[in-house]
Amino acid sequence: MKKALLGHNLEELKYIVSLFGLPSFTAKQIADWLYKKRVKSIDDMTNLSKSAREKLSSEYEVGRTGYSGKIISTDGTKKYLFMIGERGVETVMIPDDDRYTICVSSQVGCKMGCKFCMTGRQGFHGHLSAAQILSQFMEIDESANLTNAVFMGMGEPLDNYSSVMKTIEILTSDWGFGWSPKRITLSTIGVLPTLKNYLDDCKCHLAVSLHDPFADERLSLMPMQKPFPIEETVKLIKQYDFTGQRRVSFEYIMFSGINDTKKHADALVRLLSGLECRINLIRFHKIPDSDLSPSPMPVIETFKKRLNDAGIITTLRASRGEDVLAACGMLAGK
Ligand code: SF4
Repeated sequence: MKKALLGHNLEELKYIVSLFGLPSFTAKQIADWLYKKRVKSIDDMTNLSKSAREKLSSEYEVGRTGYSGKIISTDGTKKYLFMIGERGVETVMIPDDDRYTICVSSQVGCKMGCKFCMTGRQGFHGHLSAAQILSQFMEIDESANLTNAVFMGMGEPLDNYSSVMKTIEILTSDWGFGWSPKRITLSTIGVLPTLKNYLDDCKCHLAVSLHDPFADERLSLMPMQKPFPIEETVKLIKQYDFTGQRRVSFEYIMFSGINDTKKHADALVRLLSGLECRINLIRFHKIPDSDLSPSPMPVIETFKKRLNDAGIITTLRASRGEDVLAACGMLAGK
C-alpha cells in the first residue's frame, strides 16, 4: 500500500524528497500542490519533472480520503461520513450567515467514556492520521469556503496530539493553508500533559468540557475526572494569558437536576475567578438509554443570568443539526 504525502509538514516533505535524490525545493512545490492547489494525484503536480513524479509515485500517493455519505439538517447543518476501514467517523459543517465552520473528528471512537456522549459509548478504535483529519477539511463540499474549524467532533484531540498538532501546523503555515490560528478552536476534557504542550506551543483557541464544578459529580459524568481533575486543568490554564487574541471558553452541558442549580453556578464562579474566559451553555440532546435529561429552558436562562451577573460572559449555544444527529454528543459514525 502506498504512503500518503498529505499530512506531512515542509520539513518532512524535504526529507521524503531527499530519499529520492530530488532537490530540496521540490518539497515546497509539493506542499503547494497538496495544500494550496489541492490536487488529488501526484500526476497533477505538473511543475515536477516526469521522473520526479514517477519516483514519488513508486511509494507515495496524495492520500486523500473522500466522504462516503452526507445528510443535511433542516437548519442547513451537514453531516458527512468518512469511512476509516470498517468504521465511520463524522464531520459536521455548520453554516451561519457568511461563516462556514467545520467540526472535525480526530479519532475513531473515543477512550474518554463521557456518559452523555454517543461517541464515548463506542469505545476507542484508533487515531486518525493528519492526512485523515485534513481530508475532512479538503473533501467536504464547502471546503473552499470554510472560515473556522473546531476540533469538537469524535475523539479527544489532545489524546491524538501529534496528528492534531501536525494538522494545525499545516492549517496555519504559510506553505500550508495559511489560516490564522484565531480561526481554530480545540476542545478538550483537559488531558493535562498534552494540554500543557498545547498551551505552550499553539496559539489557537481552547475550549474545555467542564460540565460540573464539583469533583465527585463530574466524575460520575466523566470518568477522566479521576486522572485529569478539573481543578488541576483550571489551575494550569490560569498560568497562561487569555487577555490577548487567544481565548479560552468552557463548555457546560445542562442536565436537569444534576448540574443546573444555584450551588453549581456559584461554584463555577469561584472555580473560574480571575480567569478571562467565557462559558458556553449547551442544551443536552437526549441520547438513547440514558437517564440524563435536558434542563428546562427557564432553568437554563436563570443559570445563564446568574453567571453573567457574576461577570462571566455566558451564552447559550444554539443547537444545530439535532434532527440528523449532528449536534454535540450525538456523533456515532452511522
Ligand atoms: Fe470523547 Fe468528547 Fe465524547 Fe467525551 S464528549 S467521550 S471526550 S468525544
